[in-house]
Amino acid sequence: MSAEIIYGNVLAKEMREEMKQEVDQLRSVGKRIPCLAVILAGNNPASLSYIKGKEKACQQIGIDSCMFHLDENCSQSDLEKKIRECNEDENIDGILVQLPLPEGLNEDRALKCIDPKKDVDGLHPENVGKLFLNKKGFVPCTPKGVIELLKRAGCDFDGRRAVVIGRSKLVGSPVARLLQNENATVTICHSHTKDVRSISKEADIVVVAVGKPKLIDASYIKKGAYVIDVGVNRLPDGHLCGDCDFDSVKEIAGYVTPVPKGVGPMTITMLLKNTMEAYFSKGER
Ligand code: NAP
Repeated sequence: MSAEIIYGNVLAKEMREEMKQEVDQLRSVGKRIPCLAVILAGNNPASLSYIKGKEKACQQIGIDSCMFHLDENCSQSDLEKKIRECNEDENIDGILVQLPLPEGLNEDRALKCIDPKKDVDGLHPENVGKLFLNKKGFVPCTPKGVIELLKRAGCDFDGRRAVVIGRSKLVGSPVARLLQNENATVTICHSHTKDVRSISKEADIVVVAVGKPKLIDASYIKKGAYVIDVGVNRLPDGHLCGDCDFDSVKEIAGYVTPVPKGVGPMTITMLLKNTMEAYFSKGER
């Protein structure tokens, strides 16, 4: 048996096309266009490339984006002042502070400054709390993309056993909570977990977000399971690979995401989705 491959790039393209049509519709009736503000402090090369990708994605669906590039040596109060200006600007719907911040800047304080109604990265404590209370709020983009991929692949969560390998605040923990909110029975594994293999082998749904190339092979997977590989690792030969050994896992799983073309393209798509939701929740319709 070979698993069905869940191509995130295909789903992301479909979703972006749907959003583009919504934006075209707004434009055709002369409405204001949604706008995402991205605040970058410093010149981290990976961050510069990520924000370019975000700007390009906004252009693709026809929404506005504004980039605020602060100096590497900017102060905490410079950063918070810029965030507050964006909070107050009625033409801005979503605000994203690109992480990590340069040394000396306090991430928690910066995130707390964002208006929770514009917090399209879902990292403000109010939105984190809402996720954990199963109340409506902004959900971080990668975890939201994971659930969307599973749903569109026809996964029925109710009463299913799910295992999340990794418990980071950006990926593993919110994914686990979202799965629980969908009524799955969830176990979280981390670096102190004994015998991850036997726990994972019991699961109908396995989400892997560890950051270790090809850590998970077929011996960790139950026949027919849904496997979502969030990991992105650069191999010595320059190729990208996930946390799963794809060729091995696909022989036993029912459904599996590849790397690249799996979870990655969904992350920015969910940022666009959250920005659209922020716009419409302001009553712009
Ligand atoms: P992270 O913050 O480094 O967290 C890694 C987690 O894995 C930790 O909870 C750690 O446990 C756990 N872990 C480490 N070794 C383990 C092992 N041998 N067995 C079980 N658990 C283990 O990483 P992250 O930010 O969650 O990212 C994880 C991966 O996803 C990375 O490859 C990253 O590049 C990728 N990623 C992709 C996207 C995307 O859009 N595709 C977005 C975000 C991240 P402890 O808590 O005990 O240390």
